[in-house]
Amino acid sequence: MRIGIMGGTFDPVHYGHLFVAEEARVLFGLEKVLFIPNGRPPHRPEGAFASAARRYAMTLIATHSNNAFSCSPLEIHRSGPSYAVDTLTALNRDYPDSEFYYITGIDAVAELATWHRYEEVVKLSRFIAATRPGFPIASLKNRLPLACLERILPLQTSSPNISSTTIRDRIKKNLPIRYLTPDGVVNYIYEHRLYVDNELIPVGVTA
Ligand code: ATP
Ligand code: MG
Repeated sequence: MRIGIMGGTFDPVHYGHLFVAEEARVLFGLEKVLFIPNGRPPHRPEGAFASAARRYAMTLIATHSNNAFSCSPLEIHRSGPSYAVDTLTALNRDYPDSEFYYITGIDAVAELATWHRYEEVVKLSRFIAATRPGFPIASLKNRLPLACLERILPLQTSSPNISSTTIRDRIKKNLPIRYLTPDGVVNYIYEHRLYVDNELIPVGVTA
């Protein structure tokens, strides 16, 4: 079975994530895509803006309507930084005889050589690297060792120019966020008054 993994902070999840996951699923013949919100983002040691539980809830809401999408609490249940190597090792146990495809934007995969134990990571999974506005595929060359580059499958796509940062900034400025992320996520954000102050949630707080 070919399984896609969509990892991220999802603070909050938006249509850029959903679009790229669906595009990768169809073009690479993936049977399912697992969305895995990270507990403690290794590249943002200071924490996230919404708690892990809230980010997980929004990701569940956003992925609900696609039968091929599911959401895993694997990383938010693990203490310490969320390393891909640990996640992939656990997934190998849960889904034996599967091939893993880690779906990322070019901006994220460009940092692959800084990931914890990246030599093992690239043995455990292939990478599908999606173009993102401002991040063409060519920007990867010369940045990554060959062992990484040969495990990366480029995905030339026209994903919407949306980032979680844009959504958080718009909330702070009282601008609408509807149609940047599914309605269920928009409602959840307003109901729980998320991102209004953009205060960082200290690592370890789960509610
Ligand atoms: P932030 O602005 O807080 O960094 P983000 O929108 O980049 O948030 P992340 O949770 O950091 O979202 O990203 C998770 C993964 O999704 C990364 O691999 C990132 O490159 C990818 N991604 C996010 N938005 C898009 C988009 N619009 N098109 C393609 N890939 C995207
Ligand atoms: Mg990002």
